[in-house]
Amino acid sequence: MSTRLDPWGHFAIEDYEKLLVEFGIRPINEVYGLISRLHPYFTRKVVFGHRDFDKWLEDLRAGHKVAVLTGFMPSGRPHLGTAMVYEELKFFQELGAHVKIAIADAEAYVVRREDRRTTILNGVDFIAHAIAWGLDPEKTEFYFQTAMKEEYYRLIQMFSKKITMAEMEAIYGELSPGKIIASLTQAADILHLQLDSYGGFKNILVPVGADQDPHLRLTRDIADRFEGELGLKRPASIYHKLIRGLDGNKMSKSRPEFAIHLDEDEETVRKKFVNALTGGRATAEEQRRLGGEPWKCTVYEVYLYHLIREDEKLKEVYDDCVSGRVLCGECKRKALNLLLERLKNHREKYREVKESNIVEKIVNIPSF
Ligand code: SF4
Repeated sequence: MSTRLDPWGHFAIEDYEKLLVEFGIRPINEVYGLISRLHPYFTRKVVFGHRDFDKWLEDLRAGHKVAVLTGFMPSGRPHLGTAMVYEELKFFQELGAHVKIAIADAEAYVVRREDRRTTILNGVDFIAHAIAWGLDPEKTEFYFQTAMKEEYYRLIQMFSKKITMAEMEAIYGELSPGKIIASLTQAADILHLQLDSYGGFKNILVPVGADQDPHLRLTRDIADRFEGELGLKRPASIYHKLIRGLDGNKMSKSRPEFAIHLDEDEETVRKKFVNALTGGRATAEEQRRLGGEPWKCTVYEVYLYHLIREDEKLKEVYDDCVSGRVLCGECKRKALNLLLERLKNHREKYREVKESNIVEKIVNIPSF
């Protein structure tokens, strides 16, 4: 059966290898030689695939203007999955790329039916957390979709002229009018940077979760059709795996009980973590004899995505687990302590960012 990716859905993706084959996404390891330094997300295959990332890297190496664009839907609060994208953006900013971040408040209104005030305040918070995570506020452009000018909205109308309903349904399945507009708005987000008035960045990279590939496929088709009229080029993309929630399904803002949020207090993190799904066996005796199964474990995922930077140390956790040397209780405690420390540092930086009012100074925040 063919895979249908739902960019608005809440399910974890089981088989990433299948996506490579089915959607023509290229394996990430083929570009390793082109990156001056590798983030652990690459070596750990958290980032597992790409489209035209090799061309984008060659442009970066040649000193051409390159940009990275991504967006956050400001429903709910940023969590460990959001932080993973912050981490990727920080990495590309350090490599020298221009970073631009969309706050998809128009999409949140249409798809999640969020009220405007909440959406705008959430958006401000997503930006504050991005800066607290390490993005340079002087080098990062942030914008709210609803604060954009006519030229950006004109793109959405133009794109709608050259895409048929049948093509959209072939990519997304059944669509409501709101989701059609949200998809075309995403295409405008990705492509507007190529216009001279928005910087003329012809080489755009979009780091996304694998579930967002439908938007990339649509946007690449649109870029092809507007190559002559607007001089648009296909964007490049890289695909990361989605960190799972503590119950083993996708970590989502709409299921807060299974997500660890970046502003969460210590007590709440402890309570949530106690119930995290592990790859442990039914009894301690069985686990000592057979070893655990870290590939099923949400605690191991938190180690892998956020807690251990050095590959050798991560391998120790893995080996201790599969050999049965360490049981889940001890392993979870270690992870929890590391996580609490990480979040405490982040919360302090976040508080500083909020107190400085930097977001209000650098971003055009729409009124509500
Ligand atoms: S020992 Fe650690 S990594 Fe292994 S299953 Fe238990 S919690 Fe997960």
